[in-house]
Amino acid sequence: MKRATSSSPKSLLLSLLGLFFFLGFRGCGGGSSSSGPVPPPPDPVSLRRGFDAAKAFNLLEAQVNFGPRVPGTQAHEDALNFLFAELFKVTDRQEKQTFNGIIEGETRALTNLIGVIDASAAPRQNPQKILLGAHWDCRPVADRDPNPANRDDPIDGANDGASGVALLLEAARILINDRPPVQVIVVFFDAEDSARPEEMFLGSEYFATHMGSYKANQGINLDMVGDANLNVNREQNSINANAALYSAVLEAAEELGFSKYFTGRSTFITDDHIPLINAGVPTIDLIDFEYPDSSHRYWHTLDDTVDKCSPQSLMIVGETVLRAVYQLTR
Ligand SMILES: [Zn+2]
Repeated sequence: MKRATSSSPKSLLLSLLGLFFFLGFRGCGGGSSSSGPVPPPPDPVSLRRGFDAAKAFNLLEAQVNFGPRVPGTQAHEDALNFLFAELFKVTDRQEKQTFNGIIEGETRALTNLIGVIDASAAPRQNPQKILLGAHWDCRPVADRDPNPANRDDPIDGANDGASGVALLLEAARILINDRPPVQVIVVFFDAEDSARPEEMFLGSEYFATHMGSYKANQGINLDMVGDANLNVNREQNSINANAALYSAVLEAAEELGFSKYFTGRSTFITDDHIPLINAGVPTIDLIDFEYPDSSHRYWHTLDDTVDKCSPQSLMIVGETVLRAVYQLTR
């Protein structure tokens, strides 16, 4: 309880002087004061949303176990059915967006998988939307394999394919249970990867020209985020397209204590975000292109396997993306 004080002019002056010194001290920002110790920053672990690294990694392995998901193969069809069933569990509405494309010179049936997670507020006519994307197909040829005999074989795509999808399925599980302030459009793009440049990004190009109500205000694409030696590149096309979102992601990483995993080389990468940017959805690409390091020795080789990836890497990028999404405003 406070002791009652007199209201004489002298005591009022002393009170004001006291207030002045108190404020002045605080204004200098130094040392301890009667206001008590400055609260420590929140424990980064307490800011996590519960991204289950083991669950995500199981989803990565499950995709790889089908075999290389090259369009036109049984593995591609099996993975499609599996992923659609998984997407059904963690999104409010789902759609298969089917189209044809040329892969390895032949016409193939291709499919983008789309899932929508509604925003936390009561249904609104025009909610802000964010797209979260990743490609689910595999490169048909390991053309960078050190062994020439392997270069016509398809890759497992544990990192280059399965990682982004696995991360997004686990992130979606969290988002639908604790809805963010914006609507989330999850898209798994088909036919991103090919050794023939004209056969690349077919899924994202098709989506970008047939978005309809799935057109988001902005987006985050994930690719090669499972690398056990994680270091996400500073992708300059992303920063040019949406510097604010890129900064928000880096800030989220810093708050979570993950900054050191986002210090990769500054570079320009063409990926599924480019067709989206060109179609008016400013999208950033989170990609650890140096797999496992600047030698790129696992990239587009038969060494892009499960053992080169880690649950921890999926969790680090997953938690960072979740934090950035939850901090968006409607
Ligand atoms: Zn690739």
